Amino acid sequence: MSEDKKGLIDRAEQVLLHTYNRYQIVLDHGEGVYLYDSEGKKYLDFYAGIAVYALGYNYPGLNETVKAQVDKLVHTSNYYYNRPAIEAAEKLTKAAGMDRVFFTNSGTEAIEGAIKTARKYAYNKDGKTDHEIIAMDHSFHGRSMGALSVTGNPHYQEAFKPLIGGVKFARFNDIESVKALITDKTCGIILEPVQGEGGIYPAEEGFLKELRAICDERDILLIFDEVQCGMGRTGTMFACQRYGVEPDVMAVAKALGCGLPVGAFLCKEKAAALVAGDHGSTYGGNPLVCAAAGKILDIFEQDHICDHVNEVGAYLYEKLEELKARHDSVTDHRGVGLMQGLEFAEPVGGIIQKAMDEGVILISAGTNTIRFLPPLIIEKRHVDEMIGILEKCIGK
Ligand SMILES: *Cc1c(COP(=O)(O)O)cnc(C)c1O
Repeated sequence: MSEDKKGLIDRAEQVLLHTYNRYQIVLDHGEGVYLYDSEGKKYLDFYAGIAVYALGYNYPGLNETVKAQVDKLVHTSNYYYNRPAIEAAEKLTKAAGMDRVFFTNSGTEAIEGAIKTARKYAYNKDGKTDHEIIAMDHSFHGRSMGALSVTGNPHYQEAFKPLIGGVKFARFNDIESVKALITDKTCGIILEPVQGEGGIYPAEEGFLKELRAICDERDILLIFDEVQCGMGRTGTMFACQRYGVEPDVMAVAKALGCGLPVGAFLCKEKAAALVAGDHGSTYGGNPLVCAAAGKILDIFEQDHICDHVNEVGAYLYEKLEELKARHDSVTDHRGVGLMQGLEFAEPVGGIIQKAMDEGVILISAGTNTIRFLPPLIIEKRHVDEMIGILEKCIGK
């Protein structure tokens, strides 16, 4: 390790809270689908800052838009209107097939807004304050007290109890387990159409359709967390569009700003239960992040990003299937588009570290699954490059 790098890491460990076990590299800059560390070493990026950098690094036109907005106005608060937020809202609601949007600064905050929407919607109907939300096992929705309360991972929750009340967990893709939890108090059902952190588990179409039917019948809000699987990742603008199932409330973030901190929750008109005084954010929807989001949504449309994901995603799928067939240690392969996972019989930490040494950045989902979340602009040759290196790092 060079002095410079060691020095930086030592300094980091002195001052940063130890909430992450970080890999021992300092990332410096990116270009296209490659990242460079502080020593100039080049890495093929197959994680995209956790599904954030959808357009890779320095996509034509994007940085220029952001820089121009920095020189105009970065922040206004929500006491006033600003043009980038209006334009981004129009484009985002159109792309998502939703009616209204509230911009947030993160995915977690988008989930908070979605939970509040469901509770307020039910409150408006019966004036009661004991409503319940059904969430899924192995889900991930964020780390704030509200988002953590609907995250189906006891390990993340334990030390922080008591969480918000009225949350029950059903089994993903098991409609009977959901039905068993529904009562007159149920105000919302929340899930990821493709579970990300939980290990890349796509919902079954029948499951989502039955959830939609139950929610319609009982006037419960169906909430889709598209923070990771949305924004073209699965080959449609939002993952639920692959299934032809519309939510009442949708949470998005990650790739919405391609690195600028912006998220949003969107709702259908009937679910627009939050009104003046119910919710707010100082930064949320500021002109800087919204200029970026608006430009990104334009690029997705003009440059047919979803078509590209379908093409390269199918190629990645095929290559990972072949890899699985060649290695007994690979026990499962799941996913769709450029959101795929390869499960191994053993923890994958060692493979990921070796791949990094060889110049590919991958991440895990759980202990035994490698997650593939490259920038959506990767080409087949990048898939070949990654597969070649990964294969070297996997034992027989
Ligand atoms: C990352 C993630 C979140 C939380 O988003 P943050 O921007 O980290 O707050 C919520 N839901 C899902 C599905 C995610 O992948």
